Amino acid sequence: MNWPLEYGYTTLPQPLWVRIDPVPVRAPHLMLFNDRLADALGLTPWLADIDRAEVFSGNRLPPGARPFAQAYAGHQFGHFNLLGDGRAVVLGEWRDPDGRLWDIQFKGSGRTPFSRQGDGRAALGPMLREYVISEAMHALGIPTTRSLAVVATGETVWRERPLPGAVLTRVAASHIRVGTFELAARLSADTVRALADYAIDRHYPACREADTPYLALLESVIARQAGLISRWLQVGFIHGVMNTDNMSIAGETIDYGPCAFMDTYHPDTVFSSIDTGGRYAFANQPTMGAWNLTRLAETLLPLLDTDADRARTLAQTALESFGPQLEKHWLAGMADKLALPEPDRALIYDLLTLMAETEQDYTLTFRRLAAWLRGDPSHGLPDDARWQAWLRRWRTQLARPPEQAAADMDKANPAVIPRNHQVQRALDAAEAGDLAPLHTLLDAVRQPFCDNASTRPFMAPPKPHERITQTFCGT
Ligand code: AMP
Ligand code: MG
Repeated sequence: MNWPLEYGYTTLPQPLWVRIDPVPVRAPHLMLFNDRLADALGLTPWLADIDRAEVFSGNRLPPGARPFAQAYAGHQFGHFNLLGDGRAVVLGEWRDPDGRLWDIQFKGSGRTPFSRQGDGRAALGPMLREYVISEAMHALGIPTTRSLAVVATGETVWRERPLPGAVLTRVAASHIRVGTFELAARLSADTVRALADYAIDRHYPACREADTPYLALLESVIARQAGLISRWLQVGFIHGVMNTDNMSIAGETIDYGPCAFMDTYHPDTVFSSIDTGGRYAFANQPTMGAWNLTRLAETLLPLLDTDADRARTLAQTALESFGPQLEKHWLAGMADKLALPEPDRALIYDLLTLMAETEQDYTLTFRRLAAWLRGDPSHGLPDDARWQAWLRRWRTQLARPPEQAAADMDKANPAVIPRNHQVQRALDAAEAGDLAPLHTLLDAVRQPFCDNASTRPFMAPPKPHERITQTFCGT
């Protein structure tokens, strides 16, 4: 029976997509499958009689599928390029039981017209990494694309060395990027309008009712991104490659390449081996978010007003709201992390300065503060005069009794994040054929706010010899 896949995106002008099937792989083997996600999507009944390795490698298409690759452009590290799904195809759009529409995309599925010099393939390690980190982000309550399956292909991909290949099945609210608008703007004003209409219908239907729908669309994307990036900052997440082609119009975290969670707090932290200038350093993410949104606004100018000056003013006003919105979210989130009745900017910044100067673990500090509140003598915070002074100051500001504040803090502050050294250890084992460490890690990161027997082994920061200081792009 045909899968009820939809193809609304293919009603958009042809240059924005091309019809193409995945390239079959030699020996597909199912490594991971996300049963919970399949259930949530209402997909499970359709999986009953299929060979998952065959279907989620792209070897055997579900009946009725008409996959396509999306074209887009993007500013990569500030430089404009024409891009597209060079190693991905959208299998189709899937409507979940609540009526929401999701893209089901294969990543690593072979060459497309957008592959340029690339082989169209993906290595197993980075695909497993995306699976783990996107699951962790979801469990943290941060908007993200999800991972449905990883299938090893039985083929070798050549990077710096031969690596096992894999196909990841990614589920996203959509794959429309800032870069998709950049391509549309290069094509024609009509193409931008068609894409904007599609994005409004799919993600921001309320904009349709606004006096100025396209301005409302811009404002909506700005608001979503302000919320998203503030959440990244609160958990110490560094995206690593915030190019405009990796920024989703729907406001999900997308494209897990060289991303990482910070261990020791420092605002200048960079992991990505290709980010030599620190463009996408931890504390630079709001600035780069604003930069990307400015690229989006430029594409929408012709739709905002027939008068170019008026259009520019409207865009500018919308863009100027991004920083204040992000800061408001961030301060509110930091207040929650510290059980403060309202944000105290000086208190928060002083804590961060202290954390940086005394090289504290970002994640554990907030759990330790809660332990200190409970009077736990092994709280683990530094015992110097400056910390003592800050702690006294903080304590006087709590709205609730210490026990209650500590309990609330443990609901706001994760105990477990997918730490680089733990992720790497699990990936190495998986590549060597042992998936058990990966499952144990997944089990832990799926309950990030719990301190229990299964999460405890994943809470500790790396020891000096375990520290990973660089991550590599997810190719
Ligand atoms: P990314 O760094 O994953 O966001 O990819 C940037 C661009 O390069 C996108 O257009 C990808 O489709 C393309 N790309 C990345 N890896 C490959 C590959 N192995 N083969 C073909 N295209 C690729
Ligand atoms: Mg990308």
